[in-house]
Amino acid sequence: MRIYDIITKKKRGLPLSREEIDFAINGYMDRSIADYQMSALTMAICLKGMNENETLCLTSAMLHSGETIDLSMFGDLSVDKHSTGGVGDKTTLVVAPIVASLGCKVAKMSGRGLGFTGGTVDKLESLCGYKTSLSPSDFLSQVEKTGVCVIGQSGDLAPADKKLYALRDVTATVDSIPLIASSIMSKKLASGSHSIVLDVKCGNGAFMKERDDAVSLANAMISIGRGFGRNVRALVTNMDVPLGYAIGNSLEVWEAVQVLMGRGETHLTELCVSLASNMVSLALKIDIDDAEERVINAVSSGLALKKMIEWISYQGGDSSLIANPDKLLEAKYKKEYVAKKSGYITRINAEGLGIASMHLGAGRVKKEDKIDFSAGILLCKSFGDLVKEGETIALMQSSSISSFSDCEAILNESIDISDTPPEKPELIYTVL
Ligand code: URA
Repeated sequence: MRIYDIITKKKRGLPLSREEIDFAINGYMDRSIADYQMSALTMAICLKGMNENETLCLTSAMLHSGETIDLSMFGDLSVDKHSTGGVGDKTTLVVAPIVASLGCKVAKMSGRGLGFTGGTVDKLESLCGYKTSLSPSDFLSQVEKTGVCVIGQSGDLAPADKKLYALRDVTATVDSIPLIASSIMSKKLASGSHSIVLDVKCGNGAFMKERDDAVSLANAMISIGRGFGRNVRALVTNMDVPLGYAIGNSLEVWEAVQVLMGRGETHLTELCVSLASNMVSLALKIDIDDAEERVINAVSSGLALKKMIEWISYQGGDSSLIANPDKLLEAKYKKEYVAKKSGYITRINAEGLGIASMHLGAGRVKKEDKIDFSAGILLCKSFGDLVKEGETIALMQSSSISSFSDCEAILNESIDISDTPPEKPELIYTVL
């Protein structure tokens, strides 16, 4: 076999066989295939696509390029969730303790933030002492004892995806449904959970800007998961506006705790309840209405909040910050962002707010950048709210006072105020 012929075949739009895909991935890993050849192949895939069987074979090749985690000791109770990324998405911090408090097992590996999207592991690190790296035996024993453990993504899982993703990132070959679906699912499958709930974001703050593309990505990931014998459900959800009020690491932990205390923002709470209910329904094999009732009870009874405190302290984090979350709102400098005129808020651009918060220090421009955990934006108003000129729309906070002017300029471009109220946006477009 020659990689040249495989590239040519895909360039002509012909389907590749399992052997050809294995040859390409294995050759890329053992360096017999060069970056320039692999980037030609990924570009051909971007332009010509892949059918269901090819996508499954590509996922399998990447999945088997490294270690896999065996969660069979938990039977069918292991359940994971994945969000395709967004702004203000702190749902993992909420749903993991909820579903663990109901008897499910959450053994989760999460990513770090890059660019305008945040990462769960960074958020958790704002809880002083929280260990994001554990040995496999400590990871499993924590799940066994507490029902939940969330650590950083291990480089040993699906290393072919890691290498390929870094290449795609610099060769304009990220935006391909089969490549994204196989990339995400190879890591999810390697992480071992029996059931997986996917939150596929759609809108200006997401990879997928159009609803049809988000649905196609969701279907591609569902068919991969089911092809590997896993239970998979997907929600396609709105990411035109940030999720909830908080963007930034400590701020998002604070907001997650508010949801568990029963005083969360409406959209964020709705999405958390829906994700958690789908996870519980798959893992406990119960219908969705029964699952939803249990989820709502876990929050209102305080069981889920208790589980979060147990989880964070077991993993070395400062759980007093969960019991007294207002400390998470502290920052060296704070500044109000006020309405420039009176009217209804008709746009809060998710991507814009993600970038503005990155300028305050909440995110990384480059992988090596250090994060300011206290930095970020706390919205005081939501999409559709009526505001008066001079009224506070958001609080900006940072350890660097000089970052406020850049942030303010981006907020000016990202928030619109008009005389007529906007239509209420849908949050969950569909569940597949
Ligand atoms: N996230 C991933 O893990 N992979 C992609 O290809 C895109 C987003």
